[in-house]
Amino acid sequence: MANHPRSFRRNLLLKILAFSVPILLIGQGVALRKARSSLLKTSRQNLTSSAIRKAEELQTGIRSVEANLDLLAQTAAFQAGDEQAIEEILVEFDQDTPYVISCVELRAPQAEADTVNTCDRSIIPNAKQVPWLQSGSVESSDFYVFSPGQDAPTAATSTALNGEDRALIKFIVASPIYGDDGELRYTLAMEVCLFQLQDIGAQSLVGETVVIDPNNIIVTHPDPNQVGKNISELRDARKLSSTIGSVRAGNSDFVHLFRFLPQEGGEWLAGYSGFKVPVSPKQNNVWTVLAVTPIDRALYGLNEIRQVLVVLTIGLLAASTLLALYVARSLSLPIERLIRYTQDVDDLSQLKPAPHSSQIWELDYLGTVIERMLRRLEESSAELRHAWQDAQMANQLKNEFLANTSHELRTPLNGIIGSIHVIRDDLCDSRAEELEFLQQADKAAFHLLSVIEDILSIAKIEAGTLDVNITPVDLRHILQDVLDMQTLQFQKKGLQLIRPEFSEPIIIPVDHSRFKQVLLNVLSNAMKFTEEGSIAISVTTDESIDKGDSPPELFLPPPPWVKITVKDSGIGIEPQHLSKLFKPFVMVDGSHTRPYEGTGLGLAISQNFMRLMQGDIAIRSDGAGKGTTVTIVVPQIVKEAASQSNPTQMADDGQSGERQATDEPASAVSADS
Ligand code: ADP
Repeated sequence: MANHPRSFRRNLLLKILAFSVPILLIGQGVALRKARSSLLKTSRQNLTSSAIRKAEELQTGIRSVEANLDLLAQTAAFQAGDEQAIEEILVEFDQDTPYVISCVELRAPQAEADTVNTCDRSIIPNAKQVPWLQSGSVESSDFYVFSPGQDAPTAATSTALNGEDRALIKFIVASPIYGDDGELRYTLAMEVCLFQLQDIGAQSLVGETVVIDPNNIIVTHPDPNQVGKNISELRDARKLSSTIGSVRAGNSDFVHLFRFLPQEGGEWLAGYSGFKVPVSPKQNNVWTVLAVTPIDRALYGLNEIRQVLVVLTIGLLAASTLLALYVARSLSLPIERLIRYTQDVDDLSQLKPAPHSSQIWELDYLGTVIERMLRRLEESSAELRHAWQDAQMANQLKNEFLANTSHELRTPLNGIIGSIHVIRDDLCDSRAEELEFLQQADKAAFHLLSVIEDILSIAKIEAGTLDVNITPVDLRHILQDVLDMQTLQFQKKGLQLIRPEFSEPIIIPVDHSRFKQVLLNVLSNAMKFTEEGSIAISVTTDESIDKGDSPPELFLPPPPWVKITVKDSGIGIEPQHLSKLFKPFVMVDGSHTRPYEGTGLGLAISQNFMRLMQGDIAIRSDGAGKGTTVTIVVPQIVKEAASQSNPTQMADDGQSGERQATDEPASAVSADS
């Protein structure tokens, strides 16, 4: 199944919840555990204190019974054995005591029947248990406490008294009564019930009372069926016997009982302590008292804490969900805005500013970076567009160039071949006609040579291997040479030539042949594209030049310099074509059917030549039919400097520039320098 990536918002939400939920639940568990152990600790302490208190109360109660028995034994009725009076005293005694006497038995030694018995059973322990009935073991002021034993009628072990739940602890106390003569007169036994406050409510930690006598017989137990049993019969026997051992060693502590009630399971918590009952002046018996309570009651309050914790956890979960939603929303919104921003960018040239309202620095910065990136993309795509257009144009120019060049090459070649054939086949009528054909062939060959030279020059320019050989030459001579070469064509076309008059030599540092080639190209273009009117050549030197008059695109060399202007009244050039004319192969009319010959290389070559000679060339026209002006600037060597650097040259003002260039090479500059 495909695993679809989730949205940022959903991811963030799930991650926050995945972290916060377990943390909250673990926190709840830990808090609950802590509360439980703290409650348990308190309960253990309370139950232990309660057991100690219960033991003390029982000891006090038994001591009080003992004291009362002593008092009874001293009364005259007992001394005299007056049954009537004894019974009255006992009834009165029963009413006055803070405990309940459920049975009184008074028996004279060796007597067949009881002297007094308020219940229909005998509670006096047997002779084995009561030492004074055994011969020779009579001691004064003996007092014995017994548990009612298994045979005693089962009675409720707890009772409600004045609305309070009280444990009922039943003892049998027995004491000998001696006459004035010191003779044993009676054995008095009483079944005494002491009451003890026990758990009265869920929050009470008094605990229910369990009393175990020194013979490990249970005297009091929340379950009446357990009363009178030996602890060895109970399921918790081992724990209880070790508890009793601890009590006998004088300790008070707590114990956890897991099978306290025979029928029910469940854990009970018990605090334990003990109290001592003097059974004779020499002997003490230790009774064990437990304050027991089910663990649920011991941990009363844990449920409330649990409920509070659950409510708190749910509240925190809800709060963390809301927080997660808020955080996820506030983080994802700016990201979604950025996504929309990038999705909406159809036209890079119409790019809007990236959204910046997130109040999150990183996201705002991301927006800025994306915007900057898109703008750069737009720039580079514009560059690419231009490069593509240039490449297309170059391709188109190449095709046009090939067409033009083949035409430019074929035409003179055909002329040459045709002339040669006419002469070879002896088709001429006269020697003069033959010479005319030969002259035409010669002219065509020269034209062919110039076309090939142009192609070679542009190839060198593009390869960066074009060299110039700079020497100081007189501009007047070069101009004269060029004009001499063009005079015939001027005359043929009937154009008016306006040329400058020079009084002084104008020395310029140029490559003689290259500079001449530039002037020739400019003049032949002027002538080629001018059908009627004039071609005006003017030369101005630095001092007389108004700089504002020069075309702005012209790179002026450091002064002094010379400006040569060739202005024709020809077909002119549309302004939109002007900027590209210096690119190789460009002709205003790209069609090879154009009426003018040419390869479109002349101006490109001229510009490269001029720049290698620290000068420049520019072309201007006011539009079609409005004539064209070509401006050439070139550094000038003023007379003093020229005579210092080349005194021979300056002395020979009348010599041709061609010769000077050949004789005295001054410096060479490469196109790639
Ligand atoms: P070519 O003359 O061989 O075509 P150039 O590089 O010398 O190549 O000229 C490039 C183009 O510039 C010409 O084809 C022409 O369209 C335009 N051009 C140059 N000089 C003139 C001029 N004097 N008058 C009108 N157009 C000109």
